[in-house]
Amino acid sequence: MSKLSIRDLPLNDHHIFMRVDFNVPLEDGRVMDDTRIRETLPTIEYALRHGARLILASHLGRPTGKPDPKMSLKPVAERLRMLLDKELARGENVGFCPDCVGLEAEEMAGKLEKGQTLLLENLRFHAEEEANDEKFSKQLAGLGQYYVNDAFGTAHRAHASTVGVTKFLHKAAAGLLMEKELQYLGKAMQHPEKPFIAILGGAKVSDKIAVIEHLLNKVDALMIGGAMAYTFLKSQGQQVGKSRVEEDKLDLAHKILQHAKSRNVKFLLPTDHVVADRIDLNAVTHIVNEGHPIPANMMGLDIGPNTVENFSEQISRARTIVWNGPMGVFELSPFAQGTFKIARAIAENPAAISIVGGGDSVAAVHAAGVADKITHISTGGGASLEFLEGKKLPGVEALTDKK
Ligand code: AMP
Repeated sequence: MSKLSIRDLPLNDHHIFMRVDFNVPLEDGRVMDDTRIRETLPTIEYALRHGARLILASHLGRPTGKPDPKMSLKPVAERLRMLLDKELARGENVGFCPDCVGLEAEEMAGKLEKGQTLLLENLRFHAEEEANDEKFSKQLAGLGQYYVNDAFGTAHRAHASTVGVTKFLHKAAAGLLMEKELQYLGKAMQHPEKPFIAILGGAKVSDKIAVIEHLLNKVDALMIGGAMAYTFLKSQGQQVGKSRVEEDKLDLAHKILQHAKSRNVKFLLPTDHVVADRIDLNAVTHIVNEGHPIPANMMGLDIGPNTVENFSEQISRARTIVWNGPMGVFELSPFAQGTFKIARAIAENPAAISIVGGGDSVAAVHAAGVADKITHISTGGGASLEFLEGKKLPGVEALTDKK
């Protein structure tokens, strides 16, 4: 990796300002899912073991630039205390500051002892955070000496805590989770083991155009499922009934298919479909086989068994696999099989580096019970998509170069 890692920083005795992603779901002031907190624990523990005085900052939800008690990070501090208690017997040393800047934050940060942690209140209680405001960035930076970013999920946003702050601290390094994300995604995009295949799905072609175009220059095969596939199929003149189609993207879809052909990239679309007349748990489903039109009153809601077989064949021979987006309306069991079977097919190829990103595909590998067989599950939906588009992420660019 070309950027500094937390392992390159002098942590002992120093105040470390660490941006984490504690954007967890809350209900009645309770943390409903602490996955994001647990994912960043190795970085927190690493810093504490090495004698850091740790200041943690995060956003939670979308407050409108002012305090909103429903989006307070206080319950997160309690959960972190419990988790660190179990791991390190250091839980009692997690403090909470009711604001992320100002006198109290400065005092509390100043009083931190080695191995102690202070969690600051929600960064987005200040509109200056998302505005990447310079004065606010300086105030945040005033709390620490070195900077660590472990919040890959917000690295595609240039905010005060991800970009602005880095200008005013000695050095800015990636945390262990951020480092892992950059290593796996970076290797796939720069030096993938071949064959390299990508599987894309989900609702809209328009969301994934940039990814498709960028991946076409990298992969050996691209497989498309989900509603997206119907825009491509229609652009080839196929009858897709009342499947979800983006009419204004038909020309573009046609051009993308031509581009793939000219580059000799296999572009696989579903050849058979699970269809129904409506998106409903109780809808009667049918299979439309290859070579048959989808009836006018039906919509394609999942890839069919032959498509699963074709896609799985490609997956079994791949050495690098990137997957983003479900193959159908996987939230409803009649249309979930395609997505789950693709998840299993990926898990059944232990020789491949597999990278799964995007909330739905990540949920699917968990629901299919194969999460532990995936090489890397990305924690950043939007950030991982932008990475696959070949964009530079501002939060990564802002980190100090290794040289
Ligand atoms: P995205 O947010 O673009 O990744 O899209 C995810 C959504 O696409 C999920 O909620 C799926 O239910 C939906 N989806 C996948 N396949 C289809 C389909 N064939 N028709 C309608 N919606 C679909």
